[in-house]
Amino acid sequence: MTRALLAALAILLLSSPAFTLEPVPDKLVVLTFDDSAKSHYTVARPLLLKYKFGATFFITEGFDFPTNKKDYMTWDEIAQLHKDGFEVGNHTLDHKSVTEKTLADLPAQLRGISAQCKKHGIPQPTSFAYPGPPGRSTISKPRWRRRSTGKSRCFSSTACRTRRTTG
Ligand SMILES: [Zn+2]
Repeated sequence: MTRALLAALAILLLSSPAFTLEPVPDKLVVLTFDDSAKSHYTVARPLLLKYKFGATFFITEGFDFPTNKKDYMTWDEIAQLHKDGFEVGNHTLDHKSVTEKTLADLPAQLRGISAQCKKHGIPQPTSFAYPGPPGRSTISKPRWRRRSTGKSRCFSSTACRTRRTTG
């Protein structure tokens, strides 16, 4: 069951039209922001644009995203990040930790964000940062480390940190 879900996830990520293999340059720094915080738009975005840095914003509708627009971005703001040239990544619909118990929900959690991206003119995310505080996931590191190659990437603060290709 679990292997089938992981295989489905890998197929989903590998089916991206952006799938390519690129070398990872030395001294690469990757800037990522997760949880859809409003300050990512109001504080980080202007600085990133000013200094011409790229970044990936991992989006979730977890916490009180749907109702609290003081602390969380709107989808129009997220779409603007894409228009600015930043990458929009998937951080699951509800920001649930990924454990053996919740693993079966993961495809639906990923599709939820992908559907919102499509609705707002954002390409299907090809990068994934799984949610939850460090140590909370019970999925072993190797199982989540870079589930595919090329531009599909998997990030986490501790368990799944990996290199990112440029582009
Ligand atoms: Zn998060």
